[in-house]
Amino acid sequence: TELSTIILDRIRDVPDYPKPGVMFKDITPLLADPIAMAAVVDALAGLEQVDKIVGIEARGFILAAPVAYRAAAGFVPVRKKGKLPAETLEESYDLEYGSATIEVHRDAFTPGERVLIVDDVLATGGTAKATVELVRRAGAEVVGIAVLMELAFLKGRERLGGVGLHSLVIV
Ligand code: 5GP
Repeated sequence: TELSTIILDRIRDVPDYPKPGVMFKDITPLLADPIAMAAVVDALAGLEQVDKIVGIEARGFILAAPVAYRAAAGFVPVRKKGKLPAETLEESYDLEYGSATIEVHRDAFTPGERVLIVDDVLATGGTAKATVELVRRAGAEVVGIAVLMELAFLKGRERLGGVGLHSLVIV
């Protein structure tokens, strides 16, 4: 589609970041283009009817906050351990080397609220899967996951169980 071209033209491949052998998808050219950003935010905001948009730290916040505004939904941050001030739930997941822990406020949702999780890139799917678990444990219903770009060769989609994945671009 035309939107996927707009996105692909504004995502820069950075070799060997954050470590040798990794080709990092840099979204900053897209963020810097107001017309492209508006198209992306509108597309993400139109996917599902929800009560809350969950953004995953840190690039997920940049997309999720304007999507929440556009969708007239609330915004809820999922952050790396130790960043949220009040009582939290936490979820750990494996990385290539070691593990990571993310958190959400225990009272972030009203029971049964409908939630769309937003992030920039789906790679292995570990972060998104952990976020799904966290949101469910906090009492909400995960209606879907939406990302700008899905790296299909990493098969992240297969790790998400039955949760619907919306990818504006699949590479
Ligand atoms: P995963 O848990 O799916 O392996 O990694 C996804 C998380 O890492 C997302 O929060 C995303 O922001 C970040 N990430 C992994 N690879 C890339 C990449 O190439 N570009 C960007 N922008 N983020 C990435």
